[in-house]
Amino acid sequence: MSPTPLSELGEFGLIQRIKSNAPPYLVDTLIGIGDDAAVLNLGNKDLILTTDMLIEGVHFDIRYAPLHTVGYKAVSVNVSDCCAMNVFPSHILVSMAVSSKYSLEAIDAIYDGIFKGCKRYKIDLIGGDTNTAIKGLTLSITCLGYANKGQVVLRSGAQVNDIICVSGNLGAAYAGLLLLEREKKIFLENSNIQPDLSTYPYIIERQLKPEARVDLIQFFNEKNIMPTAMMDISDGLANALIELCSASDKGCMLFEDHLPIHAETKQFLEEVYIAPFIAALNGGEDYELLFTLNPSDFDKVKTDNRITPIGYITPSNQNKKIRLSNSKEVDLEMKGYNAFGK
Ligand code: ADP
Ligand code: MG
Repeated sequence: MSPTPLSELGEFGLIQRIKSNAPPYLVDTLIGIGDDAAVLNLGNKDLILTTDMLIEGVHFDIRYAPLHTVGYKAVSVNVSDCCAMNVFPSHILVSMAVSSKYSLEAIDAIYDGIFKGCKRYKIDLIGGDTNTAIKGLTLSITCLGYANKGQVVLRSGAQVNDIICVSGNLGAAYAGLLLLEREKKIFLENSNIQPDLSTYPYIIERQLKPEARVDLIQFFNEKNIMPTAMMDISDGLANALIELCSASDKGCMLFEDHLPIHAETKQFLEEVYIAPFIAALNGGEDYELLFTLNPSDFDKVKTDNRITPIGYITPSNQNKKIRLSNSKEVDLEMKGYNAFGK
């Protein structure tokens, strides 16, 4: 028998396989594999834990990403998974594997970004690990946060008729990536042509230096709003919504016309002949929050311009659908980022 390529399972399938072989032995493991973070019972509190890696050549390209942004982004993507549980982050551990092409100054620049992230999100760096790498740089961050009992929001709590909401806008980070890749290609073909990035500052910032939505966790806290289900959007809205609905055992109806897309994202994508809603659905790295609200809680957010209602939850016997601008209804598909390309 020949070995099975990982692309046969895909990233999602591989994680499912690992999960099925990892029964929790301990009673304090409240939530293990499968949500944005794990949840442990501390008695009168819960502890949440999450980890995410950034790998050079896979997640970032130092030919256009300033090193401080790589450090900041590594912090933001972890904090984002904490926010996705409705919890403020408190501490991080940073592990790095670094090859000899990196100087002390380069590592200082990366840590400048990490420390900026710590200051911005009010978290403490409390440890990590440092190793040599054969090639490139890998940054792996673990983030933890404390929650009051009943505060944690899982992916699995969505109820029929809940309003599906999203924070900020979608597709901007993907548009930024396309722009940076295009300018890199032009520069590599002719180094006399300097990249012109000044026309599209917003989408570049969204790609290089994403912000985790701690502001919304604050808002939910202050207004006593409890999303019924939540996750962050790291691999596209369609992937996230399919995962949230599957975890909740529900269907959904999403509306193309309601998807929030920034004017700059639209302008750039139209320039490169990509339909903006495709980027909003499948483009990765938005790090916005996708959440569902009971209609009574929705009244508390409907005037907040950071939050857009984009659809509603349907019973489990209905598919996960999107109604397009032309009124056709089609099934949502998982076309966003997948580490093993399936
Ligand atoms: P996110 O995009 O929110 O970071 P992932 O898709 O990376 O989440 O992971 C989904 C779930 O699978 C999480 O609970 C994560 O901790 C878990 N997971 C991912 N990779 C592994 C692994 N190699 N071993 C065990 N659990 C994993
Ligand atoms: Mg997540």
